[in-house]
Amino acid sequence: VVRPDLRGPVERLERRLGRERRARRLAEEIAEQATRDALHDPLTGLPNRALLMDRLSSALARAAEHRAPLAVLFLDLDRFKLINDTLGHAAGDRLLMEVASRLGTCVRPTDTVARLGGDEFAIVCEGAGSEAAAELVAARIAETIGQPVVFEGVELSVSASIGIALADGSETPETLLRNGDTAMYSAKRQGGSFVFFSEADRVRDLRRLHTESDLRHAIERGELFLDYQPVLSVSTSQVVGVEALVRWRHPSRGVLRPDLFIPLAEETGLIVSIGSWVLAEACRVVGAWSRAGAALELSLNVSPRQLDDDDLATTVDSALRGAGLPASALWLELTESALLEESSPNRLAELTALGVRIAIDDFGTGYSPLTNLRHVPARRLKVDRSFIRGLESQGHDRAIVGGVVGLAHAMELSVVAEGVETAAQLEQVHELGCDLAQGFYLSPPLPAELIEDRYLAEVPTRLRVVS
Ligand code: C2E
Ligand code: MG
Ligand code: MG
Repeated sequence: VVRPDLRGPVERLERRLGRERRARRLAEEIAEQATRDALHDPLTGLPNRALLMDRLSSALARAAEHRAPLAVLFLDLDRFKLINDTLGHAAGDRLLMEVASRLGTCVRPTDTVARLGGDEFAIVCEGAGSEAAAELVAARIAETIGQPVVFEGVELSVSASIGIALADGSETPETLLRNGDTAMYSAKRQGGSFVFFSEADRVRDLRRLHTESDLRHAIERGELFLDYQPVLSVSTSQVVGVEALVRWRHPSRGVLRPDLFIPLAEETGLIVSIGSWVLAEACRVVGAWSRAGAALELSLNVSPRQLDDDDLATTVDSALRGAGLPASALWLELTESALLEESSPNRLAELTALGVRIAIDDFGTGYSPLTNLRHVPARRLKVDRSFIRGLESQGHDRAIVGGVVGLAHAMELSVVAEGVETAAQLEQVHELGCDLAQGFYLSPPLPAELIEDRYLAEVPTRLRVVS
């Protein structure tokens, strides 16, 4: 039997099949890679937000079905910006990769660790739906993250704030993640490593959602306004300056005190635009008084968040120029914690280079000894009103205020007593050597026109700012 020689055609066929198989495999690999890219963070290789949401929704479905609650941990590194700014982005990236790999060692292989962006991570733990179990995981994470990281010979100590939200399956992935985020903010505020989301947070969140969108429009709609509280010289009783205090005339809730909206403005970053508005408006008013012959110092409150703003010094400078106010008339008040935790030390230098001066606000509430502040370029210290209130009782507040005044003067800081409410307190702060005083006994914060009426007789009526 003569067999046809099939070797040639068979080989050709095999070659073709091989090519097709390879092409198909390649196509599959490309598709897989694309899916991976779309669902993973390129830096750390961790699942991204999209994949997390997907995994979270299947996990929630399982939780509901098996009645087995789960936990979501929302994690944000503390002071990551500082590391990024001072050591550079390469160091920041290294740190994020290190954190990503450490997180992986803290959870079970079936749990999901995702990077949400920036220095934010989320972890879904299906086996840890009880408070005790979630707490254990959070504590393990805090401990592991807390191990120092060495980068180019520099030892960095890192910490994270963790918000924990527990779910029984009735929640949506979005709500759950937002709850974790809210709890994480509480952890940051309280300075602890982790905090559980609570019912109180839920109520606050709802309120916040409303207030936040209102607050966004408050400036454009002209709903913010300033009151001015006189600052008096203790020895001469003369008004030497005013502190501008912001208020919000809310369309339905009436006039809101800053304590009710400044924290929210800080969290959302709106404080930067509110701060610029306050600066421009207060400089305009005090600048006009100054040109009319009543030169007063102006004190403004600055939030830590504003110090992160690269344009702060420029904003201050142009507000002063616009108002024709000398930089030496302006005091910027910062709390001791803001001054100590300041993430960009250059910012204060930029401000003081303009000729603007820094005051330490609410001194005594931050538990830091004055000596810690010796490197801070402040020229004035405001003793918190809780100590002034205590002056009339038998406690140690007299000794404390006396000591603070002595130390402050030794450091060439002038001292303001805040919250002077009685004649007796005024007498005491005088005896203790405070230079300046502020408080309801002397004057409450007042609208600009009342300041003019009561204190600025020299400002001719026709030149008055508010007529
Ligand atoms: P602060 O800077 O310590 O301002 C003094 C606060 O004490 C003011 O409250 C003032 O009304 C109040 N006060 C004055 N005298 C007395 C007194 O004799 N007794 C008592 N009990 N209180 C007195 P206010 O206006 O509610 O402001 C609260 C805080 O909000 C301020 O504390 C300041 O930290 C912040 N704040 C106000 N305006 C601004 C702003 O424009 N920007 C920023 N970032 N924060 C602001
Ligand atoms: Mg103040
Ligand atoms: Mg104060």
